[in-house]
Parts: sequence; structure tokens; C-alpha cells
Amino acid sequence: MKCSKCGSDAILFQNYSGMHLCENHFIADFESRAKKAIRKYRWISQGDRIAVAMSGGKDSGALLHFLTKVFGERRDTGIIAISIDEGIQGYRDIEAVRHIAESYNVPFHSASFKDSYGFTLDDIVERQGDRISCSRCGVLRRHLLNKTARELGATKIALGFNLDDEAQSVLMNALRGDAVTLTRRQVMREGFVPRIRPFINLPEREVALYATLNVEGFVEVGCPYSKNALRADVREILNIYNYRHPSTKYALVNLGEELKTPAEDNRTEPGICPGCGEPSFGECQACRIVKEMKR
Ligand code: SF4
Repeated sequence: MKCSKCGSDAILFQNYSGMHLCENHFIADFESRAKKAIRKYRWISQGDRIAVAMSGGKDSGALLHFLTKVFGERRDTGIIAISIDEGIQGYRDIEAVRHIAESYNVPFHSASFKDSYGFTLDDIVERQGDRISCSRCGVLRRHLLNKTARELGATKIALGFNLDDEAQSVLMNALRGDAVTLTRRQVMREGFVPRIRPFINLPEREVALYATLNVEGFVEVGCPYSKNALRADVREILNIYNYRHPSTKYALVNLGEELKTPAEDNRTEPGICPGCGEPSFGECQACRIVKEMKR
């Protein structure tokens, strides 16, 4: 197949746009859509210090490449990389993540559940079973990422979430009947580092292709607990449905954004967790997990 724009050999067919793209036009299209999302949501402004949350996988590797390419030369914007080590045997390879960050000359920092909370995710699973692994992991990872980023002076946390992740989140919240999460906007509070997701409109396979073309040394090991996640089921269902109806993921992400827009969050007071001082309305979920583990 030939590129719909220049007639060179194509490396990708976008079934939702009907276009075949060569490597150069794919990269240009990819980066322009990520920039468009940043402009639309006004995610990055002068003086920002962006902390890229890095797992070492394709999504965060692609994000680091993109952000350093677009903002790396700008004197008014700084980029750092942060990796959270959950303590999952054989999964998180902090040295591989450090290597990727350093190959882009980006300062690298890591923090671990073990050092911060006194236990690992494997300890939680050993004590409480593996069905709750992802919910506990998500709470503690977000908590520690926010704390670490803030302490390093970051003004934004950049996440490598792609279109598939976002669409899955909307569907998962609907399937759980979780109207609060579905309609809640990101609320600015003291101590909370706003999160940005430049790849929100880019399909997972295109992020993977962008990473393959540009990033060396990203890690492809899957988490041993991922099979327990509701997300794994939703991902499968959504991929089957999307194959027949290629705009479905975009429709879900748009729906998620629409639902958030009109909802008024009236909790505007600065909330601080009495246990750890992190932003929260009352005791935060991370402190509850720590208490459970100490019992
Ligand atoms: Fe954590 Fe679940 Fe992701 Fe594993 S799959 S890293 S347990 S959230």
C-alpha cells in the first residue's frame, strides 16, 4: 500500500480515517494530534516543569520522546522523569527506565512503595490476595507520584495514557455504575500536581508504532497481576466491538469529556489528609491502605 499523502510505501492504515501513511507522514500526523490535544486543554504553559511518569514501557517511552522533541529545547519549560517501583517481583525494571530517561538527558528520579509505605505490592497480595492488587496499586502509585513530583518542583505530571486507556476507563466506570468518577473533573487543590495526557486521542497501536520507530530499550514485560484487572476484560470487549465500529473508542472518550464538562464540583475548599498531608477530602485512601497493612 502507498501513503495517501505522498505515494511512498505506507507503514500504517488508519481504519477510522481511511488513510494509509508512510513513516514520515505517520510521525507528523501523530505529533500534530498530540500537540493539538495539549493546545485544546491548555496543558502546558510557560514556566512549567513537566514530570513524565515513566514505567519504561512503550507509552511512557513514546511520551518522553515526544515531549523532549517538542519542548526539550525550550528554556521556559523543564522536563524530568519519575518512576514508581511498586515492588512486583520480576516486573518493574528501574534501571531500564533510568537508561531511557538518561538517553534523552532528562533527570531521573524514582520512589518505591517499600521505602515510602514500608511494604511492597507483593506484600499486599500475600496478605490480602491478588484480586485487589490493581485497586491498591493504583491508589498508592497516584499518591506517591503526586508527592514525589511536587517535592521535585513539578507543575505538571504527564501520563502516557492513550485513546484505548481512556476509552476503557469510561466504559469501566459505566460498567461499575460509578457516576461520581465518570462525571468528576480534575479539581485544582493545593498540593495537587495537575495531570496531562497528550496521547488521549492516539490509539494504542499508533503509540506502540511511534515508540518502535523512535525509542530504544523500552520494556515489554507485563505485570503478573494484570489478569485480575477489570480493565483486561473491558479491553478485550472493546477491541472486538471497535473492530466492527472503528470510531467507538473516540466516541467513548468524547462521551467521558462531555460528561465531565457540565458537572460542578462544589468541593472547592483545600482538602488535606490529616495522616500524610497530601491533597484529599478527609483521610486519603493511601493512608487507609497503610493502616490496613499495619493491623
Ligand atoms: Fe499495578 Fe495492576 Fe498495573 Fe500491575 S496491572 S502495575 S498491579 S495496576
